[in-house]
Amino acid sequence: MAGAGASSADAQPANPPGAKPEDTEVYSPVPPVVTPGKSDADAPSDAIVLFGGKDLSHWVNTKDKAPAGWKVEHGEMVVAKAAGNIETKETFGSYQLHLEWKVPTNVTGKGQARGNSGVFLASTGSGDGGYELQIMDSYKNDTYVNGQAASVYKQSIPLANSMRPPGQWQSYDIVWTAPKFNADGSLKSPAKITAFQNGVLVQNDYVLTGETRYIGKPFYKAHGNSPIKLQAHGDPSPPISFKNIWVRKLAD
Ligand code: MG
Repeated sequence: MAGAGASSADAQPANPPGAKPEDTEVYSPVPPVVTPGKSDADAPSDAIVLFGGKDLSHWVNTKDKAPAGWKVEHGEMVVAKAAGNIETKETFGSYQLHLEWKVPTNVTGKGQARGNSGVFLASTGSGDGGYELQIMDSYKNDTYVNGQAASVYKQSIPLANSMRPPGQWQSYDIVWTAPKFNADGSLKSPAKITAFQNGVLVQNDYVLTGETRYIGKPFYKAHGNSPIKLQAHGDPSPPISFKNIWVRKLAD
C-alpha cells in the first residue's frame, strides 16, 4: 500500500467509522485454569509426574519393556548402565517437559565420556532411536559443539553453555512439537524444539532435519506418538541422576 514517498504512518489502515475498543476484545476460548507449583520447578496441576522421587512406575526398560532397572536413591533416579535405556510407558505427541539432572562430583573421563546421558524427545525403537537432546558434563569439558550438553545431538549447537558444575542440579524445560507424517509415510511437518537449560535459552524453535544419527545425516522415518526415553550411555564414568520429571501434553 505504501507508495513512493509514503510514510510508515500513511501505510497503516484507518479504522472504519465508529470503531470501538471492544471490537477487538475476545472472550473465548477461555484458557484452562492451571495451578502452578510452589516453585517454577514444581509440577503444575495439569502435569503428568513421570518421576516424583519415589518410584519408577512410569518407566520401563527400552529393550524388553520390563520394569525399569534404574535405581531410586535419596529421592533421585540413578542411571543403571547395565539395564540400558529406559522410557515412559505412556506415549506422547507434542508436549512441555521439565526434568532435572545432576552429574556426580566424582565424575571421570572427558569429552563424550563424561557424564553422558540424554533425553530422547520421541523414542522410535530400541537402542538410541529417536531425537536426542544431549545430557552430559559440559562444564569446562570440550567436545564437538553439536554434541555438547543442550545440543540436539549432531544437529543443533546450543545457543549458550549454561552448565552448572558437577554436583549441582541442572534443569531442562523443553517445548517439543512432534513431527507429523502423511498416510504414505512422507513427512507432513517436521519436529521443532525450544529448550532452556537452567533458565537460559539453548534451543530456539529449532526445526529438526530428522532423527538423531550417530553416523551419517539425520532423516525422518514415520512414527506416531512415542515414549520419552532416557539414555544409559556406555561410557565408564559414574552414573548421573534425575529428579522432578513432569510433562504437560500439548494439542497437536
Ligand atoms: Mg547422550
